[in-house]
Amino acid sequence: MSRNLELQARRDAAFARGLGCQLPVYVERASNAELWDVEGRRYVDFGSGIAVLNTGHLHPKVQAAVARQLQAFSHTCMMVTPYATAVELAERLNRLAPGPTPKKSLFVTTGAEAVENAVKIARAHTGRAGVIAFGGGFHGRTFMAMALTGKVAPYKTGFGPFPAEVYHAPFPIAYHGVTVQQSLDALEHLFKFDVEPSRVAAIIVEPVLGEGGFCVAPPEFLRALRTVCDAHGIVLIIDEIQTGFARTGRMFAIEHTGIEPDLMTMAKSLAGGFPLAAVVGKAAIMDAPLQGGLGGTYAGSPIACAAALAVLEVIDEEDLCARAEVLGTRMVSALRAAQKTLPAIGEVRALGAMVAMELVKDGDPHRPDAELTKALVKHAAGKGLVLLSCGLYGNVIRLLPPLTASTAIVDEGLSIIVDSLRELTTSRAGSAVGA
Ligand code: PMP
Repeated sequence: MSRNLELQARRDAAFARGLGCQLPVYVERASNAELWDVEGRRYVDFGSGIAVLNTGHLHPKVQAAVARQLQAFSHTCMMVTPYATAVELAERLNRLAPGPTPKKSLFVTTGAEAVENAVKIARAHTGRAGVIAFGGGFHGRTFMAMALTGKVAPYKTGFGPFPAEVYHAPFPIAYHGVTVQQSLDALEHLFKFDVEPSRVAAIIVEPVLGEGGFCVAPPEFLRALRTVCDAHGIVLIIDEIQTGFARTGRMFAIEHTGIEPDLMTMAKSLAGGFPLAAVVGKAAIMDAPLQGGLGGTYAGSPIACAAALAVLEVIDEEDLCARAEVLGTRMVSALRAAQKTLPAIGEVRALGAMVAMELVKDGDPHRPDAELTKALVKHAAGKGLVLLSCGLYGNVIRLLPPLTASTAIVDEGLSIIVDSLRELTTSRAGSAVGA
């Protein structure tokens, strides 16, 4: 048995079944956009540990900052004896968050925790309970985050009951026939049928659905949500956990719309592989909870804060926002060119370097091809590419190479995708003829 398969058998025996695993590839080392497994095989990494490595695996600057921090101290707890790097990071994030209103930050450890805390802060500020989220959205695996997530299987199956006062409206997805007007009408229907706006504390939305399939929220939709929130005193929470830190060609995806969020949630690429998440928002809202009401033992780990300060420097020095636009355009044109002869590619969509293709049967948007998507992830891995799937129907391939990846490596990954898809669809057509 190969070393990977042997480890996979041990993993299956040792871990709870609920922990998913995309590929039985056991990593030994990684550098920028490449990783090597325990059998010495090299992979191009188009997953970036689920959007965590916009600055690549072990960027030398991040590695050096962490090494320096490890020489000093690794943990004291921000709530006991704090440290300067955390203060500096909060100041930088407060300056980076869009809009003129003064901002404050809170650090926690995971994305789900950031979402939980954003809701806590919105409730404390408004004195209201209701929260509105969107179908197809993903906000995490803790109870409130799970309740807000707009996809039942596998995220919610068997885990209820969920916190009360959570409502969902459809996310506008043109390819699936849901217009901005329909989404906004559904929101008005919620106010008419389910909950009066004066009982709603927050609306939470991803500017681009992450797990939901990289569907880009039209700017006019997000602007309309801003107007609804302003009209009713509702806190607008923009979940930038997957979209943040230069991925979409701006530091934050919401910058494409010109609106100022009340609160933003951040995690993933914030600290280049070290567990750190944040809520950043308008100071008057952030200050609503009582002292001691927010926090966490590991919240704002000094190692993660050192890494995050280095990540922000790298994004700036290497102009990764501009690089995201360049890589995004390159990925989109390669996939659109392939789409001309591959009807399985139903739609290619992107915001900056947040690029995805939706795979369907016979070019029909209503016939998602989850099997082909699964097969493609496996086939591409066989050719040395790590790919991630996503989407409400499990039929979307998302491309998330590090923004520090060379053009040659990105092209290598793109060729593997197109070749794999061609091979898979030809062999399928062949077997249909043979059957
Ligand atoms: N929000 C969004 C938009 C996400 O993409 C994710 C993670 N995929 C989360 C929240 C939850 O983050 P975490 O897994 O760090 O809890």
